[in-house]
Amino acid sequence: MDINEIKLAIEKELGACRADIVKVVDQSSLNDFKGLHLGKKSVCSALFSQMRNVPSESKQIVGKLVVDLRQEISEMFNKKETELKNIALEKQLQNEKVDINLPGYSTKLGSKHPFFAVVDDITDFFVGLGYDIADGPEVESDHNNFEMMNIPKDHPSRDMQDSFSITDELVLRSHTSAVQARVMAASKGVGPIKVICPGKVYRRDNDATHSHQFGQVEGLVISEDATFANLLETLTLLLKHLFGDKRKVRFRPSYFPFTEPSIEADISCFECGGTGCKFCKNTGYIEILGAGMVHPNVLRLNGFDDSKYQGFAFGIGIDRVAMLKYNIDDIKRFYTNDIRFLSEFYKE
Ligand SMILES: [Zn+2]
Repeated sequence: MDINEIKLAIEKELGACRADIVKVVDQSSLNDFKGLHLGKKSVCSALFSQMRNVPSESKQIVGKLVVDLRQEISEMFNKKETELKNIALEKQLQNEKVDINLPGYSTKLGSKHPFFAVVDDITDFFVGLGYDIADGPEVESDHNNFEMMNIPKDHPSRDMQDSFSITDELVLRSHTSAVQARVMAASKGVGPIKVICPGKVYRRDNDATHSHQFGQVEGLVISEDATFANLLETLTLLLKHLFGDKRKVRFRPSYFPFTEPSIEADISCFECGGTGCKFCKNTGYIEILGAGMVHPNVLRLNGFDDSKYQGFAFGIGIDRVAMLKYNIDDIKRFYTNDIRFLSEFYKE
């Protein structure tokens, strides 16, 4: 082949390539193009093998022409390959496009259990008044639960709190006063003490408003100058905080083995506002908590000098407050984990 024939072959091959590359529409036809124009049986390869027949003086020129041809075909191939990749990517993006008009999946957040909403509310209130918070075990010694609270073994007042016995010396605590016994023991007869004890307690009870388990927040203040007036003011503030300023608060004399004098506090009825109805058994008031001045025996039993120290104590039922606040009909709803009940307290 002389140089002119080679030039002609190159022109012809380039023309064929330009015509073929236009027809390439996918990866398969691109592979065909590669095989035909860059493969072993391509014009390019044939021209390379012809090189040995080219006279040596023309070898350099012809070599460059063939290399340039191969380069040009490769560029056509690469350009097309990139083009096809971009088209495929565009297509994929179109298919995977997120339709922002579609509604999303919403995750329902949990909400505070009404029982713990009341615990937190009462706790916040007392922390605001400078009280500490104390905790203790639910399986408690008879000593802490009863004896330190002025309820000796075989004393008839134990009947007021029918408890679950584990052994002769261990009970499921029937009130959180047991924690107060622990706090007093830890303070070794030195005041002041200003503490609340929130927690679960257990008694042998079972009806719509009583259950074998319920929550209590008990409070204890021991100092050289804690008075009955302080107690009444504290309870009035608490009840107005919990049930609103419009509720009237009433105190009645009562009896507890660990306080003397003892009182119970009532609030005016939600249903009738104090005129009397079925809900308040025509009294106009609803019983809400018990309290009193710490019995001198309790002070002495727990290592305090009752000629120096005095104090007051109170206990409020968490479930009872929650039932009244949220109009709940059965105390057992607090621990049966019915999602339909709990979701009523869900706030958006
Ligand atoms: Zn009423």
